Amino acid sequence: MQKSSSPHALIDSFGRKVDYIRLSITDRCDFRCVYCMTEQANFLSRDDVLTLEEYARLVKVFVELGVHKVRITGGEPLVRKNALRLFETIGQLPGLHELVITTNGSQLEQQARALKQAGVKRVNISLDSLDARRFRQITRVGHLDKVLRGIAAAKQAGFENIRLNSLLMRGINDDEALDLVAFAIAQDLDIAFIEEMPLGAVHHVRRDSYVSNDQTLGLLRTRYDLIASPVCTGGPARYWQIPNNKTKIGFISPHSHNFCEACNRIRISCQGELHLCLGREHAVDLKPFLRGYPNDDGPLKQAIIDSMQIKPQGHDFDLSRAAPAVVRFMSYTGG
Ligand code: SAM
Ligand code: SF4
Repeated sequence: MQKSSSPHALIDSFGRKVDYIRLSITDRCDFRCVYCMTEQANFLSRDDVLTLEEYARLVKVFVELGVHKVRITGGEPLVRKNALRLFETIGQLPGLHELVITTNGSQLEQQARALKQAGVKRVNISLDSLDARRFRQITRVGHLDKVLRGIAAAKQAGFENIRLNSLLMRGINDDEALDLVAFAIAQDLDIAFIEEMPLGAVHHVRRDSYVSNDQTLGLLRTRYDLIASPVCTGGPARYWQIPNNKTKIGFISPHSHNFCEACNRIRISCQGELHLCLGREHAVDLKPFLRGYPNDDGPLKQAIIDSMQIKPQGHDFDLSRAAPAVVRFMSYTGG
């Protein structure tokens, strides 16, 4: 991938430059994490999600509009049939500096090497517990050993960076923060703790399961001498480091440390809806522009440029409300 001097057409009404898209290529998943979806999750029919060719066209258009970084996510992106083909196509795009993925790790044992060869630079792998029984309780159906083999395969493949993503829930796995960090250090990986967000109605009360990252940081400080890291990866994570240790410990804290003022990203759902903010309903359906103008990117580009005017200033997560902030699950919009 080479650098290009693409113009920055995507600037919102608050002056924020959007140069990062997160693209969900399926709402389906081989796990059913309790904070992400319900046990009997209803998935879209295959005809309702975009084709791989449509995703590739969307990414090309966004890169032409100045986007430099693309994260492929889902649902579980690696359960989408022939997903690798999409990575190979996007990985060739001039102007795209960073192709990255968020995955639950279940398919990495088979696919890590090919992803690296396709041009994926960095991988985020979700890991909420190191205890096999708990891991199954949280994911409802997942196997920890498979994910650990996936992490090993990702290390072997030689990505520039691998970060574990951990979501702690009160009374379920909030006592594992120290063990998860010790694992990340031992494996030479980064780790980020994500606060649970009220996206979609699940079977538990989010207010009860919520663990603030300030609490997690306090727990980590009982064992580690942590120094705020100057490293900024362009995302919402604030990083800390242990002296003389490479592992970065990140905190993504939509509740306790709102990060909206520096928001540089937008999300595209697996159906082609452009979501201007994860925690708000503002969206533009790009599918009519994709399907209505198969040989002309002009109307699609204009719709994307125009959408910048409705990007909201920030999310409005409030755990004291009983209703979710938005009805969409994270697996639909793309985590
Ligand atoms: N299936 C992949 C995975 O689990 O990494 C990618 C999609 S998943 C939706 C992306 C990330 O979103 C995961 O790290 C997961 O923990 C996180 N996530 C899901 N639901 C969430 C919620 N309600 N609040 C905060 N994070 C959530
Ligand atoms: Fe699947 Fe990821 Fe949601 Fe878990 S967090 S159910 S792995 S999409």
